[in-house]
Amino acid sequence: MFIESFKVESPNVTYTEGEIHSVYNYETTELVHENRKGTYQWIVKPKTVKYEFKTQTHVPKLGVMLVGWGGNNGSSLTGGVIANREGISWATKDKVQQANYFGSLTQASSIRVGSFNGEEIYAPFKSLLPMVNPDDIVFGGWDISDMNLADAMARAKVFDIDLQKQLRPYMESMVPLPGIYLPDFIAANQGSRANNVIKGTKKEQVERVINDIREFKEKNKVDRVVVLWTANTERYSNVIGGLNDTMENLLASLDRNEAEISPSTLYAIACVLENVPFINGSPQNTFVPGLIDLAIEKNSLIGGDDFKSGQTKMKSVLVDFLVGAGIKPTSIVSYNHLGNNDGMNLSAPQTFRSKEISKSNVVDDMVASNSILYEPGEHPDHVVVIKYVPYVGDSKRAMDEYTSEIFMGGTNTIVLHNTCEDSLLAAPIILDLVLLAELSARIQFKAEGEGKFHSFHPVATILSYLTKAPLVPPGTPVVNALSKQRAMLENILRGCVGLAPENNMILEYK
Ligand code: NAD
Repeated sequence: MFIESFKVESPNVTYTEGEIHSVYNYETTELVHENRKGTYQWIVKPKTVKYEFKTQTHVPKLGVMLVGWGGNNGSSLTGGVIANREGISWATKDKVQQANYFGSLTQASSIRVGSFNGEEIYAPFKSLLPMVNPDDIVFGGWDISDMNLADAMARAKVFDIDLQKQLRPYMESMVPLPGIYLPDFIAANQGSRANNVIKGTKKEQVERVINDIREFKEKNKVDRVVVLWTANTERYSNVIGGLNDTMENLLASLDRNEAEISPSTLYAIACVLENVPFINGSPQNTFVPGLIDLAIEKNSLIGGDDFKSGQTKMKSVLVDFLVGAGIKPTSIVSYNHLGNNDGMNLSAPQTFRSKEISKSNVVDDMVASNSILYEPGEHPDHVVVIKYVPYVGDSKRAMDEYTSEIFMGGTNTIVLHNTCEDSLLAAPIILDLVLLAELSARIQFKAEGEGKFHSFHPVATILSYLTKAPLVPPGTPVVNALSKQRAMLENILRGCVGLAPENNMILEYK
């Protein structure tokens, strides 16, 4: 059975004007490696830590500024949200299609709330805590191409033509602000698009972006802004001592107009200085150490990297399943071809390299979790190929071959072929990223013994379900397995309303 909403009644939860307060017992373990009677032993001690969560329930009016607004993702997301808001339906060759938010964790997935008369009861994910309704988001942003969003939608060739016709009047007047363009960082084949660029030194460009955010906020009367990079994949920036390795060095390099600061890092600096959350949806290392330092110093949310939309999402499910089943993946080979502008940009070796790096580490945590299968340091062969094939447009093909060792030296080969409009996978993920970034800014917590409530660490691991190469604070574990990432997010939100984590034990029926 499905219920739309619920309220938790518990001595541990209080609802006050504008706030949900919950006391939550976090069941965890403490490990020690001790010499006991001459031999070293691992001792595991279960422990309970009391946490308190405070969630502000007032939902702000949210503005979302996309870097690369006129791209396939930017135009598809903007059009998709307008279509939902306006209740648009359109004729396809098969049927009359209604706008929806399929593919969005917050808008189209559910959580289990419990059992009632022997039946499992589910509710929308978004019913856990008050979240911004995506229909209410005001969109804006930057693009190095000055094309308005209606023409950009037509250029993207993602939506059916009948839908495009209905959306055009809403999107014609939406024109991206000029963007920061440094040709060295993206493929040379993007040069012909760049007719809408911010002039000046890097410092002036950062100041201009800060000003753009302020004006957008003022003009649209939004309470909060989230900025998200969905512009072209850049090459990696070189991380160099004295240049971008610390906050001080990065800011001094900005003053000196150093060449090696990428556009994405410039937008990120602007956002951190302005205390606006910044999320990176592409694979490059926008968050150089100096930028991470700066975000921590300013306590300003940063999250990334690279939307986890298709092939990698499958990989972080399949390898988790195989390794979890005691099967040993030995070779993972992934081919992609796509024909959109992202594909054209990725056809340059330097930008492809960023994508290759971001796709390459996604099975590390699963491999490291099982030394029955893998010797220390052993790793499956893992190769990623991406080719640009204009004809297929946004309809990306991903072909994967997983070869594994099974019982008694047997071999198992699984082959997948995935065809899908790339932007229709990415757009709902962008939505989740901005909605969850906004929500996480309204949550404060403290562990027992901590004097004051504080927000989550500015490096937002809570968003990791949505990203291919989750950015984590220095010295903390990276989790790629999709089910663990989802459980982490859901269980933290459950904790905020005093619900136990979903443990799937269903003891009441055993
Ligand atoms: P796109 O090429 O259609 O759009 C990118 C837009 O960014 C273009 O309109 C371009 O003019 C603009 N741009 C480039 N540099 C800019 C700058 N410095 N400032 C402002 N605007 C700039 O690409 P897309 O298909 O929308 O994908 C966007 C990004 O998302 C790519 O980096 C891609 O790798 C990443 N990504 C996409 C998916 C997916 O679509 N499923 C998944 C993971 C990551």
